[in-house]
Amino acid sequence: MAYDASMRLPAPCVAACPAGIDIPRYIGYVEQGKFTEAHAVVRESIPLPMACGMICYRPCESWCRRGIMEEPVAINAIKRAAVEHGDARDGRDGRPKPVARATGKRVAVVGSGPAGLTAVYYLSSRLGHAVTLFDAMPELGGQLRIGLPEYKVPRDWLREEVEEITATRVELRAGVRVESLDALAGEFDAVLLAIGHGLALRLEIEGEDLPGVGAAADFLRDVNLGKPWTIGRRVVIFGGNNVAIDSARCALRLGAETVRVIVPGPEDEAAAHDFEIRAAVDEGVEVLAMQRPVSIALAAPSPSPASKEAIEFLLVSMERLAVVETDAYGRSRMTPEPGSGFTLEADTVLVSAGQRPNVPSAWGLALGGDGFLKVDRETLMTSREGIFAAGDAVTGPDSIVEAMAQGKKAASSIDRRLGGDGDISETFAPALGAEMAMPAALAGQGKGARAMPRIAIDGRPKSFALVEQGYGKEDAVAEARRCIRCDLWRTGAPEVWSRQEG
Ligand SMILES: Cc1cc2nc3c(=O)[nH]c(=O)nc-3n(C[C@H](O)[C@H](O)[C@H](O)COP(=O)(O)OP(=O)(O)OC[C@H]3O[C@@H](n4cnc5c(N)ncnc54)[C@H](O)[C@@H]3O)c2cc1C
Ligand code: SF4
Repeated sequence: MAYDASMRLPAPCVAACPAGIDIPRYIGYVEQGKFTEAHAVVRESIPLPMACGMICYRPCESWCRRGIMEEPVAINAIKRAAVEHGDARDGRDGRPKPVARATGKRVAVVGSGPAGLTAVYYLSSRLGHAVTLFDAMPELGGQLRIGLPEYKVPRDWLREEVEEITATRVELRAGVRVESLDALAGEFDAVLLAIGHGLALRLEIEGEDLPGVGAAADFLRDVNLGKPWTIGRRVVIFGGNNVAIDSARCALRLGAETVRVIVPGPEDEAAAHDFEIRAAVDEGVEVLAMQRPVSIALAAPSPSPASKEAIEFLLVSMERLAVVETDAYGRSRMTPEPGSGFTLEADTVLVSAGQRPNVPSAWGLALGGDGFLKVDRETLMTSREGIFAAGDAVTGPDSIVEAMAQGKKAASSIDRRLGGDGDISETFAPALGAEMAMPAALAGQGKGARAMPRIAIDGRPKSFALVEQGYGKEDAVAEARRCIRCDLWRTGAPEVWSRQEG
């Protein structure tokens, strides 16, 4: 029986998803064991469903109605299951791939992270423009490839998604850094800058240029590109963000014996998500909050008791911090505690003090006070006509799903500038059907989310194997039955919702 879409209510999870994925609908398909159709629903909203299923920070789950009473539905784990267990990874169920008629317009996209790749897909396959994709790195994927370690996103899966996106009407220029924006502006009808934030900031403390001290983002990039890196026995990392935490987990995997992450404030105000910090701590990383480095020096060479040879290491002068006040947003302002100085010994020091987009002044683009690109909020056009920008270079450090949302908006906006209607909607899933009925087997209250299977902690520190293994089909279906289908509440909440289960 055909279902009338106008009967649906807006679900809180969908409202919270920057990419607008129809979450209850794909969960409805998974509940019926129809993974291919579920994947197709996801694919209607984003071109990187696998990468998103692996690493999304899942803002939807914070708004999930089930979370009011108990744990929210594991929405992202179900999405990943839809990708992994569906028959057609590209979500089109064997149907021929739709390709728009060529428009004859040419667009340059600079940066192949999730924002750039998303824009590339819609501009080329969906809207018919010829796209040239530039990236300074030899491998495509942006931070998904050079920032995130392989224990979070397997390389071959990512390559598969990138190849799918770039298969039609896209000229690839990997390993090419764009230096002159004027040259691009002269050659192409529009330019999109999706350049992320590749400039690592410094702490500006004494000793930052000593051997053994480096930027954590450069460390991650080199490790992810397979360049040799000799990590010391004792590693100290400054910063409480993603880059610091993933560097710490990589350092352990490369053989470091102790890894300490120094957070310059309360741990619960660190930029990294608490589940990322917990995963690192579980693996053996020490997180030391409310401390900061003052300077770094080479320790005076001293004879090693065993070898009698001189050994050198780094001495980091530290101080403890105290909270002075908390602002209206709940953020603490810190001051050093008098007389709290102490010293840490380290063989490698990595600095993750934040990053900025690398925007040469010759590009003539307006920047915000924080150094990120200024754009028109509606069109994402920069201060230069025909030059657009999207992703972390605009928003500041964010997430894969926000970057994809920006890439979609930029593609639509560029298309309108080039004479199109900006419509990037797509239909891959079948017409609304049985997945729109409240399932009979809904789980009542009292059942927490299915645990995500993970590889044993003992095996982790030496291996870059994928940590989160993903739901099997049975777990995915069972978890889907925890969704109380807020989109179908026109006739009230399901009776099972108020029933407690043992
Ligand atoms: C270590 C780490 C872990 C993270 N973990 C997560 C996570 O678990 N979940 C999550 O949702 N998000 C995570 N993020 C954030 C997420 O990766 C970013 O928000 C996202 O990648 C931003 O996408 P983007 O397309 O804007 O830019 P990026 O992914 O940064 O891509 C920008 C690309 O532009 C290229 N470029 C820059 N300048 C030029 C130029 N002049 N010429 C040519 N190419 C250029 C760069 O080489 C790069 O490939 C993480 C980030 C990092 C660094
Ligand atoms: S219960 Fe289901 S429909 Fe409701 S917010 Fe959670 S995931 Fe979305």
